[in-house]
Amino acid sequence: MADAKALKNKTIITVATTGAWPKKKDNPNVPMTPEEIAEDVYECWKAGAAVAHIHMRDDDGNGIMDPVRFKKTYELIRAHKDCDIIVNMTTSGDIHADDEIRVAHVKELKPEMASYDCGSMNWLNSGLFINSPKFLEDCGHLFQELNVKPEIEAFDPGMIANAAYYIKKGVLKTPVHFQFCMGCANGITGTMKNLVFMKEEAEKLVGAENFTWSCFGVGHSAMEMLYGAVALGGHIRVGMEDNVLYSKGVLADSNKQFVERAVRVIKEYGREVATPAEAREMLNLPPFQA
Ligand code: ZN
Repeated sequence: MADAKALKNKTIITVATTGAWPKKKDNPNVPMTPEEIAEDVYECWKAGAAVAHIHMRDDDGNGIMDPVRFKKTYELIRAHKDCDIIVNMTTSGDIHADDEIRVAHVKELKPEMASYDCGSMNWLNSGLFINSPKFLEDCGHLFQELNVKPEIEAFDPGMIANAAYYIKKGVLKTPVHFQFCMGCANGITGTMKNLVFMKEEAEKLVGAENFTWSCFGVGHSAMEMLYGAVALGGHIRVGMEDNVLYSKGVLADSNKQFVERAVRVIKEYGREVATPAEAREMLNLPPFQA
């Protein structure tokens, strides 16, 4: 068990390999099949990622909440016996999926983490992203029952207040882990000022000792959020779910390329990259069971 002081200097890198939206036409390097995703996760783990946030796609590349594909991908990741990466499964990989199918794979596979989107919003100006009060209550209780740690995605400060409400009601258990989702259409924009604000809102509403946090920036806010997270002592998510471009006008070669950049930024800043074992301690997860 590492001492708490040593862990304070560690930054957890989450890689979000696929998401529900980017297609091969947007970037041919986005991993889509269980085989592609599992290999990609393994490469990202070798490069320094401690958590893999995964989504599934159907044969046409559309986001799908298919327990069979989740299971296959999970098994392929775990087939790498040396790889202890934390697997975080989305519950929001298809805005048309009903509440039952959104958690079917969580019930079956009991991943260490799964996403918990703490409110509803318009999605990409094209559809409704619904997380009803009933869904959030049921989901919070289910995760507690199954020992699945919610990754509380907050796309705006209202979702942090919502999380504080569910903590008070016992639906969510502290310490919680936030993912501040910055720069998504209809969500809070990805600026340093806003990132500081999100962190301070969480401190005010949830209590600094009761949460850990990570963030990501979509599109042109990606670098600002990467440097911001590291400077503010948070954790960082990178990958093609959030950005298909590595830099302006340049398509990313791989998810690993994003992880490698995050590793460089963390080290240059004088912090260290958390291993999955260290991330488990910081996130209050039990030790890895192979
Ligand atoms: Zn996701």
